[in-house]
Amino acid sequence: MRASQFPLFTNKETPADAEIASHQLMLKAGLIARLGSGLYTWQPLGLRVLRRVEQVVREEMDAIGGLEVLMPAVQPAELWEESGRWSLYGAELLRLKDRHDRDFCIGPTHEEVITDFLRRELRSYRQLPLTFYQIQTKFRDERRPRFGVMRSREFVMKDAYSFHLDQPSLQATYDAMQQAYIRIFERLGLRFRAVGADSGAIGGSVSEEFMVLADSGEDEIASCSQCQYAANTELATSRLATPQSPVAPAPAAEEPTPGIHTVAEQCKVLGIEPAQVLKSVVVMADDSPAVLFVAGDDELNLIKAAKVLNADEVRLAEPEEALQATGVPRGFIGPIGLPDGLRQWVDTRAATLINFSTGAGRQDYHWVNLNWGRDVALPKQADLRTVKAGEGCPRCNQGQLEIHRGIEVGHIFQLGTKYSEAMNARVLDEDGKQQPLIMGCYGIGVSRVVAAAIEQNHDEQGIIWPAPLAPFDVALISIGDDRSAAVSEAATQLHDQLQSAGLSVLWDNRDARPGVKFADMELIGIPHRVVIGERGLKNGTLEYRGRCDSENQDLPVDEVLGVLL
Ligand code: ATP
Ligand code: MG
Ligand code: MG
Ligand code: MG
Repeated sequence: MRASQFPLFTNKETPADAEIASHQLMLKAGLIARLGSGLYTWQPLGLRVLRRVEQVVREEMDAIGGLEVLMPAVQPAELWEESGRWSLYGAELLRLKDRHDRDFCIGPTHEEVITDFLRRELRSYRQLPLTFYQIQTKFRDERRPRFGVMRSREFVMKDAYSFHLDQPSLQATYDAMQQAYIRIFERLGLRFRAVGADSGAIGGSVSEEFMVLADSGEDEIASCSQCQYAANTELATSRLATPQSPVAPAPAAEEPTPGIHTVAEQCKVLGIEPAQVLKSVVVMADDSPAVLFVAGDDELNLIKAAKVLNADEVRLAEPEEALQATGVPRGFIGPIGLPDGLRQWVDTRAATLINFSTGAGRQDYHWVNLNWGRDVALPKQADLRTVKAGEGCPRCNQGQLEIHRGIEVGHIFQLGTKYSEAMNARVLDEDGKQQPLIMGCYGIGVSRVVAAAIEQNHDEQGIIWPAPLAPFDVALISIGDDRSAAVSEAATQLHDQLQSAGLSVLWDNRDARPGVKFADMELIGIPHRVVIGERGLKNGTLEYRGRCDSENQDLPVDEVLGVLL
């Protein structure tokens, strides 16, 4: 490929609104271009990287028997009403109407669609187990899209769904999927951890996240120095929290408890079972200016919090609507910072107000429990436990926990019968009995992987692609007088030779100064650089430099291929 036919849209300036390295470098290198908040065009160069990720994912999904499908991005509301998520999903779900005034959404995920597909098409239990996957565009109306494609609104996900007659079969596919994920992230050259996770609002009991280790990651992981234990600190905290002695009653506190703690911890400290406390939770969708967001996140997290509390019912409502809700709601969960009306209401009822976070340090919410009233003491900060580096490992009891930050690039779940029960997806078993299908679901943030890889692999000059992700394997740079017949002939020959050896080559034949060419090739992070100039050619040599090398190497022309392969 010649740069004259493959224009490089690189930029010198670091975009002012790009906070993290991957976002800055993806814009500067011309991999993506911003269209609007959380919306990006993949430029030709970026798309080559995205396609390489897709390819690895596709190969590993096929290898474990996944069947590729492609489902519509636009989904009818009826399906989401059947599963109960039309009301539960909140503002992250982009809803729209067609010309007949019928409701639709743009899929943030596809459990409903695939369940509907299989309940119609499955003929016999003998066809099970089945695993379907797709690589497709999702839309989530994130409350705070940021970091470019790391947390965008439209993004590419690989989502897979498996269907089974029994739990052992689900477990077998889940295990195969876990191994496939490990292979995928290893092949992509990423440093990652598989961690136990809270399955939250998506349901199910077993779930694991795949975290690319990076300081800019939004998640926090605790891992043991001695054994394989690794968990999202959210989960680690609830596992570690030990029952505390009852807290002596104290006067009602009008002010929230300082500090950030998980709900599970709060309940432990107070010596209460979350299930006893809260049966109905109204989650407020509050966009009022009084709301303070410590870190961007979404309503799904609030719902997740409600689930932690074992709420039977979760509804989204504006604060005013919540106040007027029919039947007395037992509690509220909302972002910290009460609107005035609600503050008054809470005060007159002497309700308890507790601050917590659904994930260590991620976002603060308040939890207003109306039933506890003045009898309940608020825990003191000292009574609460949070995971800190150095804590003993809850699994082996020998190692100590280390804390890392991570980027969630994949998530696998055992869903059980959550969707099949709600949507009546059943099959007759061997004995002629109707059985709900048992399901698993498995996601990879394909576009996020590209950004995560850059977070782990870059320097002052630009991106350093792990070889399997590079948009081109080799940057061929011709310098000096490009019209020189000798240079142009040698470059053409080498270009063709490398391409036929299976390497992808970007030949920078632009009419530009060598310094400009070198800087661009370093910025876009091509692993190998070969420079052809008149002077070298006279001695039959080329100049080679790996992206991470500190020095150039003169190589005889006919040895280049050997070095590159
Ligand atoms: P997060 O916690 O980052 O919001 P999630 O838990 O909501 O992610 P899942 O529902 O588990 O996401 O979706 C599967 C994968 O899709 C995630 O592991 C992540 O890699 C990717 N993903 C989710 N949201 C986004 C987004 N807004 N932009 C890019 N990738 C995303
Ligand atoms: Mg999310
Ligand atoms: Mg998550
Ligand atoms: Mg997830």
